[in-house]
Amino acid sequence: MKQKGTRDILFDEMKIWQYVEENIRKICKEYNINEIRTPLFEATELYARGVGDETDIVNKEMYTFNDKGGRSITLRPELTAGVVRAYIENGLASTMSPLKLWYVGNMYRYEKMQKGRYREFAQFGMELFGSNSYLADVETICVSYELFKRLGLQDKVELSLNSIGCDKCRKEYIEKLREYVKPRLNNMCDNCKTRYEKNPMRILDCKEECCKKELENVPMITDYLCDECKSDFENVCKLLDEISIPYVVDKKIVRGLDYYNKTVYEYTAKDLGLAAGGGGRYDKLVEVLGGNSTPAVGFGLGMDRIIILLKEYGLCNNLTSNVDVYFAIIDDKAYAKAIEIVTKLRSLGIVVEYDICKRSFKSQLKYADKLNANFVCIIGEDELKNDECIIKKMSDGSQQTVKLDEKDIFESIK
Ligand SMILES: [Zn+2]
Ligand SMILES: [Zn+2]
Repeated sequence: MKQKGTRDILFDEMKIWQYVEENIRKICKEYNINEIRTPLFEATELYARGVGDETDIVNKEMYTFNDKGGRSITLRPELTAGVVRAYIENGLASTMSPLKLWYVGNMYRYEKMQKGRYREFAQFGMELFGSNSYLADVETICVSYELFKRLGLQDKVELSLNSIGCDKCRKEYIEKLREYVKPRLNNMCDNCKTRYEKNPMRILDCKEECCKKELENVPMITDYLCDECKSDFENVCKLLDEISIPYVVDKKIVRGLDYYNKTVYEYTAKDLGLAAGGGGRYDKLVEVLGGNSTPAVGFGLGMDRIIILLKEYGLCNNLTSNVDVYFAIIDDKAYAKAIEIVTKLRSLGIVVEYDICKRSFKSQLKYADKLNANFVCIIGEDELKNDECIIKKMSDGSQQTVKLDEKDIFESIK
């Protein structure tokens, strides 16, 4: 039995995945982003340090177990920490800077099931190392926005933007935040009581209704940004205006994780109430995980969410993968010749199937129909003798006889 939160992706849906992944590959090639693949599991400690040991992810949602050697192993709940580990361990900093990496991969979180939320899920992500300029923030936004655009989703998702400042400006803000929260703390959840001591910014991200209510008039970091953070954020917004990427500023976005600073952003499909992904700058993470201080910015988009959007908005209806030509073989002696031609046609990019069951002509035609074959190439005893074949166009039933040779067949099915 299939485990809760997992699923099998079958033919028709797989076509949509391939369509999205093809677009991702194309865009990443154009943007000169390098693909990286990292392990499905890492040492648990990586996530405790990299994601933050007070986050819901680390506390409640990880698939953690001891392997037979007694090591604590965790199935990756996100990919940034693993990519940063790989960046450090492989000395990628010395290869080139800035360096852009991308991935599509499965991740695992023990979460409550919701629409578009699985316990095994996939994300497309990008990490950009080595630039502390706002231009790098914009570059990652361009890549993610471009994907939505190519898929026809640019009007369906909204980009929300915020700055959560740096260590410097956060210090003053956190004082103001604690001042505001302190008298209200009794009405708030236990998690927030702990957060108040250890990491008060996370209070802003609390999903509990009681906390949300208390936080209605909470001071916002945006009003406490230092000059550098302020001008960086203004520059991001200004450049996005100039290159016509639409966005809204949403002061409530904090992204919940320790490692984010300055620009953070999220994509939401407003009409469906579905989060599609997000990203931001994380200038401290490389250092936290043992590398040299390296500015970085990245994003992750939910593949499952993107697929849902494409389906909901009917933007993936023409992804049929028809068979171009089906070879109906009636004479046993024709197989060798047929396979030879089929192989040549396939190498020309033509999608070809032929009978591999030695079925009757009638059931071969039925199968060709099921395959949505555009043409059927019929080779019987007479045709083989004359070095010919019959090409039947399935849409109108018209037939013509052509030479039994891949060039002539190729021409006749164009
Ligand atoms: Zn600052
Ligand atoms: Zn709370």
